[in-house]
Amino acid sequence: MAVTVIDRTGVCEETSSGNAAALAFTDVLPLAHKGMLRQLPKWLADPLGPLSIPPAYLPKLLPWLIRFWRAGSPKAYEASLAAQAALMKLAEAEWMGLMQRSGTKTMLREDGSLELYESEAEFSASLPGWAARDRFGIAYRHVEVDELAALQPGLSPRFVKGTFVPGWKTVADPKLLGKAIWRHAEAHGAAFVQGVGFVTSAKDGVTVQLRGGRTLMARRLLVAAGAWSHLLARSFGDRIPLETERGYNTTLPVTSFDVKRQLIFPGHGFVITPLETGLRIGGAVELAGLRRPPNYARSRAMLEKARAFLPGLDPGGGRQWMGFRPSLPDSLPVIGRALAADNVFYAFGHGHLGLTQSAATGRLIRDLVLDQSPPIDLSPFSPQRF
Ligand SMILES: Cc1cc2nc3c(=O)[nH]c(=O)nc-3n(C[C@H](O)[C@H](O)[C@H](O)COP(=O)(O)OP(=O)(O)OC[C@H]3O[C@@H](n4cnc5c(N)ncnc54)[C@H](O)[C@@H]3O)c2cc1C
Repeated sequence: MAVTVIDRTGVCEETSSGNAAALAFTDVLPLAHKGMLRQLPKWLADPLGPLSIPPAYLPKLLPWLIRFWRAGSPKAYEASLAAQAALMKLAEAEWMGLMQRSGTKTMLREDGSLELYESEAEFSASLPGWAARDRFGIAYRHVEVDELAALQPGLSPRFVKGTFVPGWKTVADPKLLGKAIWRHAEAHGAAFVQGVGFVTSAKDGVTVQLRGGRTLMARRLLVAAGAWSHLLARSFGDRIPLETERGYNTTLPVTSFDVKRQLIFPGHGFVITPLETGLRIGGAVELAGLRRPPNYARSRAMLEKARAFLPGLDPGGGRQWMGFRPSLPDSLPVIGRALAADNVFYAFGHGHLGLTQSAATGRLIRDLVLDQSPPIDLSPFSPQRF
């Protein structure tokens, strides 16, 4: 089957290029859980904190927030958790296979992750989340303060406990990995066309019009346009509550600090990842839509905190970045067929986990397109579930 990718910028040039590089296969908890909802008032009170919502955007965001709130009900939460765990299991198997086939396994880092807590109370509040992971056989080990220095030398003494997750993986650099996977696809015949696409018809094949004139015809179309996908899905009768959780980071030179594995600061909503190309510090969520200009004070605020957490960190020479996480209120992606056109498929809405889940999504879309039965139940990911 001949495949052509259309993108207005390039392959792996936008959100997928600058993320935190985690293959977070053990990260199965939906975002709308009680622990997080409890943190909301504290987080929202800090304008540069882990979560921010510009007041002017609140009216537009409200329907999504209500759905997010509902996704935290025990029944909805349990359903999302089970679906997420199934997708993660598939993602790990598919990623390992894809890395093998594409010759990219050298980019895989299997050092685990270290979550860090500043108080016994913060640690205790994390325990129900770890207990939920027990049900899916996810390995982790809580560590006392005297072991923290061995797992990450140079940490501030403010951290009193940690959790080490051995199955957490990272990649050398998400952009380089994305480009390498693309070269593999190209070697198997995939083609690339640059342009802003919109769909004019999905009858007797799909017609995609590119801004500026060119028209492309295809038998089938896959909409995988990140945080902009819902705009295209409207043409096929699907109104999907896709929002963007904008995230920020700074990438410092490799020499800025010797970080041994991904460090996670759950109370502050950001992570530090050692990449082959630098030290990436960032995360946080800004619910502010697709149009507002970036506020890089967020990147700086996390860098400042990182200096306090790793007192020897050299903060100079950084590159700031913002990306648009494509997020659905139940933390699950949309993987399935369009309502009004059975030759149109969707793969978007992976939120915080798009790198991690991409290989599973690719496999599932392949099965759908070829009319083969998928290895997991796709109903939790249905585009028509809202
Ligand atoms: C700060 C941050 C840290 C993150 N860390 C991680 C992590 O550690 N692990 C993880 O798994 N995930 C992480 N994520 C999430 C992950 O990066 C995203 O889920 C993922 O990049 C989404 O990929 P995508 O291909 O759907 O979207 P994108 O990478 O945004 O790609 C969408 C593409 O569609 C194009 N497009 C849109 N509309 C059109 C159109 N009409 N015509 C042509 N082209 C169009 C855009 O130009 C863009 O290139 C992070 C995200 C952020 C912001």
